[in-house]
Amino acid sequence: MLAIYVAYDSSLDAFERGCVHEAMRKFVNEFPQRKVVMYGTRSWSTGKFSNADWYIDNAKKLHNGLQVDAWSVINLLIVEPWQKGNPHIDIMLTARDLGREDLNYCFGMTAGRYTVQSVFRYRHLSVDDRRRAIEAVIWHELGHVFMCAGNPHRTHIVHDSYGKHCTNPGCVMQRVRDLPDLVRIARGVRREMYCPQCLADIARSYD
Ligand SMILES: [Zn+2]
Ligand SMILES: [Zn+2]
Repeated sequence: MLAIYVAYDSSLDAFERGCVHEAMRKFVNEFPQRKVVMYGTRSWSTGKFSNADWYIDNAKKLHNGLQVDAWSVINLLIVEPWQKGNPHIDIMLTARDLGREDLNYCFGMTAGRYTVQSVFRYRHLSVDDRRRAIEAVIWHELGHVFMCAGNPHRTHIVHDSYGKHCTNPGCVMQRVRDLPDLVRIARGVRREMYCPQCLADIARSYD
C-alpha cells in the first residue's frame, strides 16, 4: 500500500499547518492501514526536489507571477527522482495562489497519485470555515487519488466536470465550483468524509 507524503512550503502560517496535520490525523483515523509521512517544510534530501519550497519556487508562474501553475507543480512531482525507488502518493500545499492556463484559479488539482493544493483563498474566512475548507480540499483531492467516483462501476451518482464528482449529500467528493460552494460542502461533510459509494471506490483503488 502506497504511503502518503505530505509537504507544504513556508508560506503556510501556523494555523494552516495545524489544519493540515489535523486533516491527515482524521484521515488516518478513518483509514488506519494507510501510512502518512509528514514532511511539512522539512527537507528530505539536499539539492533539487528536496523540500516543498523548492517545488513551489521552481514551478512555472502565471498572471505576472501572482499564481503558481498547478500543472507545473504536478509535473515536478511526477519527474522527481524519489518516485522511482520509492513510489508514494504526494500531497503538496502552498499558501500562494494556484492557477491553471484554463482556469482563473484553483483550490487544488490532482493527477494520478500527485496532488497540489492552495490555502490562499480561505484566508478571509472565519476560523472554523478556514479549517473546514483546508480539510475538505485535502480529503477531496485524496479522493481523486483513490479514484472516488472515477471507478468504472460508478455509472450514476457521478457528475463529470473537472474530474469525476459525487452527487451524494454530505460527501466530500461533491463538485466544488467556487468558494461559497466549498464552504457549504465543507460545513456539511459527514464524519466519514466520503459517502458509502466513495468509500467503496477507495477500497477498490490502490492496494
Ligand atoms: Zn474534484
Ligand atoms: Zn461520494
